[in-house]
Amino acid sequence: KLAPDADLYEVAQKLGIEFFIVCFVDVFGVLRSKMVPAEAINFIQKEGAGFAPMATWHDYGPECADMTAIPDASTLIQVPFQKDLGFVIGDLYIEGQKVQDSPRWVLKDVIAKAAAEGYEFKTGVEPEFFLLSEADILAISDTKDTERKPCYETQALMRRYAVLKEIMNALNAAGFGIYQCDHEDANGQFEINWHYSDCLTTADRYVFFKFVAKTLAEKHGFKATFMPRPFAELTGSGCHCHCSLWKEGQNVFAQGNADSVPVDEEEFPAGVEKLGLSVLGCRFMGGVLTKAPAYCAMTNPTVNSYKRLAGAITSSGSTWAPNRVSFSGNNRTNMVRVLPERFEVRLADGAVNPYLMPAILLAAGLWGLKTLPSTKPFYFDPKVNMFLIPDDSPLIASVPRLPANLLDALRSLEADPDMKDFLGEKMIASFLRLKKAEWKEYMAHLSSWELRNTLDC
Ligand code: GLU
Ligand code: MG
Ligand code: MG
Repeated sequence: KLAPDADLYEVAQKLGIEFFIVCFVDVFGVLRSKMVPAEAINFIQKEGAGFAPMATWHDYGPECADMTAIPDASTLIQVPFQKDLGFVIGDLYIEGQKVQDSPRWVLKDVIAKAAAEGYEFKTGVEPEFFLLSEADILAISDTKDTERKPCYETQALMRRYAVLKEIMNALNAAGFGIYQCDHEDANGQFEINWHYSDCLTTADRYVFFKFVAKTLAEKHGFKATFMPRPFAELTGSGCHCHCSLWKEGQNVFAQGNADSVPVDEEEFPAGVEKLGLSVLGCRFMGGVLTKAPAYCAMTNPTVNSYKRLAGAITSSGSTWAPNRVSFSGNNRTNMVRVLPERFEVRLADGAVNPYLMPAILLAAGLWGLKTLPSTKPFYFDPKVNMFLIPDDSPLIASVPRLPANLLDALRSLEADPDMKDFLGEKMIASFLRLKKAEWKEYMAHLSSWELRNTLDC
């Protein structure tokens, strides 16, 4: 890794880089870039690459001064399949001030808060995506991929061997440490996994991963989409996040660490200690669970996200996506799955912002370390299939529901004053304004379903 202010021109000379993609991710998670010739990169390192804020998903008017992205040289990756190109992520400023609703700054701020208490948050993401046909984006690219239970299907994987191999080779050349790739539970859907890291590295890598997956899919004549629920009859695309918290090089979610105190049944249901998480880990998870309805708009940020969360069970037998706020051991039917020394949050979907997801999970977790939630988090025995419990069952009557749609989620976000403490006032205000406008636009749209079901009312 280079120093953040390393001389990128020198590096370009050494590596044979002719151009740089200088980029950033906006509030909606869209990757925005400028192409900068190597000869100009020192100038851009000083002055920044300029962008009109309103032309991106940031909450500023057309009168706002330029937003400049100053490359963070430590993020540089020589694009393995395009060696004359360097990919570098920038940090955003307006008139010399940090852009308050820039997701990467927001994450860095939460990281700094954790660091002040000696903590480092490590995450691993599990992005799922579909390979669609480039010519017909409403269709899965592989017309032979029609199994009713397509998860881990070998031939469907082999039919996409060339593109998946190229994606993984590129990521490995960039030091990701890929350890597996599989065909997921929906036709046309895949997932690629790499090693976990500190949450900023993982977020930056996730940005590069999406860039590589989309670019190489196009090269092979496909379209890679991370849309949360592209097909009503198939499971959606999640972005599970594995979480652990570290202090002085030790995972404090591991049982037996210095910070552990005996589990208190006032706080947690009995039996939880058997799941392999320290008390500190349980408390952090308690924050992540308790605040989920409030931050769900961040982890599940589109109208379409709620079709994944509340989606009807698919032909393969499950949606694998949560609809209530509960946790369990190694069981995929709850919002949180606890594994030894870490837990997996199964809430976020493919539309999630790579920076806002770890930012909100870390902030909620830190809150959980200090605050005793008014109700205990809901634990279900790992043998229970949550998807089979009827909605009106007394078993889940008091288990909080996740928001039913984007508006519901935005209202919960707005109603929780802690959210501003977690991510900053400007971030929350921008997110709410931009997303409420999206909801309004969606509501102005009439669907064919409505016509079919209401015409004869
Ligand atoms: N695709 C599922 C989701 O929407 C997850 C499947 C899995 O457990 O990997 O979250
Ligand atoms: Mg998966
Ligand atoms: Mg998973």
